[in-house]
Formats: sequence, structure tokens, C-alpha cells
Amino acid sequence: MLLGAVADDLTGATDLALTLARGGMRTVQVMGTPAPDLDLSGVDALVIALKSRTIPAPAAVAQSLAAARALEALGARQIIFKYCSTFDSTPDGNIGPVADALLDLLQTPLTIACPAFPTNKRTIYQGHLFVGDLLLSDSPMKDHPLTPMRDANLVRVLGAQTKRKVGLVPYQIVAAGADAIKSAFERATGDGISHLVVDAISDADLHAIGAAVSDLPLITGGSGIALGLPENFRRQGLLAQRQGDTDFRAPHGRRVILAGSCSAMTRQQVAAAQAAGCPSFRIDPLAIAAGKLSAADIVNWVVGQNNVDKPPLVYSSADPAEVEAIQGQLGRTEAGESVEHLLGEVAVRLRDIGFIEFLIAGGETSGAVVGALGVAALRIGPEIDPGVPWTVSLCKQPLALALKSGNFGAVDFFLKAWGKLP
Ligand code: ADP
Repeated sequence: MLLGAVADDLTGATDLALTLARGGMRTVQVMGTPAPDLDLSGVDALVIALKSRTIPAPAAVAQSLAAARALEALGARQIIFKYCSTFDSTPDGNIGPVADALLDLLQTPLTIACPAFPTNKRTIYQGHLFVGDLLLSDSPMKDHPLTPMRDANLVRVLGAQTKRKVGLVPYQIVAAGADAIKSAFERATGDGISHLVVDAISDADLHAIGAAVSDLPLITGGSGIALGLPENFRRQGLLAQRQGDTDFRAPHGRRVILAGSCSAMTRQQVAAAQAAGCPSFRIDPLAIAAGKLSAADIVNWVVGQNNVDKPPLVYSSADPAEVEAIQGQLGRTEAGESVEHLLGEVAVRLRDIGFIEFLIAGGETSGAVVGALGVAALRIGPEIDPGVPWTVSLCKQPLALALKSGNFGAVDFFLKAWGKLP
């Protein structure tokens, strides 16, 4: 095992695992700390997916430490703490507290914070995170149901989550290449800085940063930060030259789309699937709360949809005004959990009657569904769109799962994904 990662949500873990797999690392993703009997022979990178993004900070710290200890015990030479490319967090955390705890565990003074993912239009310039041409705080992330992001200055956002010093490696230094970035790390350590936000606006920047972090025991960031890491191991003669995972095979069977994401892109994908003729079932969280909607109702509806080319879509996705109104009545956490729980139960019932191909939209939603299905490990397959691969669950009754972070994927994602399943 060369590289270990702790990811704060499921789709983020998958996104990172895909980046490592494409970089030629044999990568397995596990849900939570791996079972002792999981066969990890021949695995170069292990990504542990937690569901710790929005839980109370002490619990996120405890789970992340347990995961990191497991990775150390498996021999990981470097650890990545992976969070969202939009730095999803609240003033209480959990990015700062978890990064602090991992610095202590690994007994190292400095790490970087770099959520940039230029392929998906997340870039960092002068410490400010952009989503496309908008500052994070002007992007749809300002209205996220669980982690509304209202400040784009990552030095300030992270600074509010840690008592340690936060600094910046500005673009001028990043553009000068890996050696210049490394020198900035040395200066920062001398200045007592623990967290360095690092600018990056292109994949070339991420490769340079990747080379510069080869000696850091801990790296924090989005999946983009992993772009340059396989090369570090190859340079040291620890990793063979190979292309992706060519013998990935997926099971095939009945399909369903379950969308619990309210992100702008998911809402467009829902609309595109409806416009293309996919039958759809809208979940109203108020109906769940009132006991007027059950998993059995939804499953009955799904089973009745028989056109394989137009898979049924079950969605709770709603625009920010509707989400706010529902949260006002039910509470933010309760509204989210009721939908997550219902979709988890729907998935289990569908699996039990033979459904095989599942497309899940939403990070928290995917975590809930995969948890309900009892899936413990995933093998990473081909990319559907940047950051989203097909995966196969490593269990007796394998399922094909596409787990999509809310804002990921093109508008026609729900339609085209099926054609990319090998
Ligand atoms: P994303 O990847 O877009 O952030 P997530 O699944 O991580 O999506 O988060 C969306 C959250 O919003 C989940 O907790 C989900 O249950 C909740 N949710 C979904 N639909 C609604 C709705 N109509 N009203 C309120 N909350 C909702």
C-alpha cells in the first residue's frame, strides 16, 4: 500500500479513487474503516469513505483518526484527507478540526489545503475559490441545504475552523513550479504556519503541487490534488507504468435513478431526464413527515416502469426556496435525514427484487443509500463524466453503482451514464 485516503463523503471518495485509478494506481474504496478480512493484496491505494462532512466535529475527528490509523497500519506512506472541491463545511468544521487532528497523529507540522478541480471548473486564485466564473460565495453553493458556503476566501474560511495559523501559496509561486512551491513550504514552517491554502487554476498547477508535496505525510484537498501523486511513486520505482483498470466488468439488470441532491446541476439533470421522457416520481419531504409516503409506495411505482431505455427517476430535488420552506417546517437535519432514509429503504427493496444498476445523485444521499445496501467496498471502473465513475460493489450479489456528487456530471448524465457501463 502506497497511498491512503480519508474522504469526508462517499461521492468525494469515489472521485478521488477515480483520479488515482486513472493515474495507474490499483485502487479500492471502502465504506468506513476496512474489515480485517478484506483482501487488499496488490492494492496501491485505499480510499476510506466516511460520512463525516456534516456530523458534529468531535465525531468527524474520531472517525477520521480511526481511518488514518488503519491506513498507517496497512503501510500507507502518505495520507490524503479528501473533502469537496467547493470546501463544503460549516464554521464549526469539519475540515479544520480533522486536518488539525491528522497533523497531530502524523506528527508533522504542515499540510496544504487545495480543493481545486479545474476540470470541473473549481479553481483557486489568491486564496479565493471560484466555481466557473463565480466566486464560491456567489455560486449555487451559497444555498446548499447542509453546508451553505457564503465566503470564497479559503484562508479566512479555514482560519475560522482552526486555532492554528493558515497561510497562502499564491499563484505567482505555484506558476514558478514544484521547487518554488517546496521553498514556500519551508518558509511557512519557519513562520509557524500549519495549513497552507495553495492556488491552482489548471491541471498543470496540480501536477506541480503534486510533485512538491511528495515528502509531506499529510495532504488535504479535493480529488485534483491526487493528479500528480502517482508520478511521485513511479519516480521512486514503487509503482509500475500502467493505464487504468482494463479488466473491470459490471453486472447488468434493471435500472433506477435516485436523486436526493438539490444542487443546481442535479436539478438540471432531473429536468433533462424528464424532458427526454424518463418517468419520474417526486418525493415531498412533508409527505414523508406526515406518514403519507412510504418506501413501498415508491417501489411499487418504480416496478411499474418497464422501458429500459427510459429508466425511472425518483427525486426529491427542489429549488432553494422550496428547500428553505421545507427546512423551516421540518428542520434542516430532519428534512435531509428523512429523504436519505427513505431513498436508502427504496434502494434496499429494489435490490431485493433484483434491481442491479443504480444511479444515485447526491453525496450525502449516496452515503445513505450505500450504507443501507450494506456495501462495504467498491471497485472503481470507467469514468462517466469528470469525477464520476461506474463502480461495482465487492460483495456476494454485486451491484453496478454510479454515485454522483450533486454538482457533477453533464446535463445529460442520467441518460448517457448507462451506455458507459462495461
Ligand atoms: P449534494 O451532493 O448535491 O450536496 P447531498 O445528497 O449531499 O447532495 O445533500 C442534499 C441533502 O438535501 C440531503 O441530506 C437530502 O436528503 C436533502 N434533501 C433532499 N431533498 C430535499 C428537499 N426537497 N428538502 C430539503 N432537504 C432535501
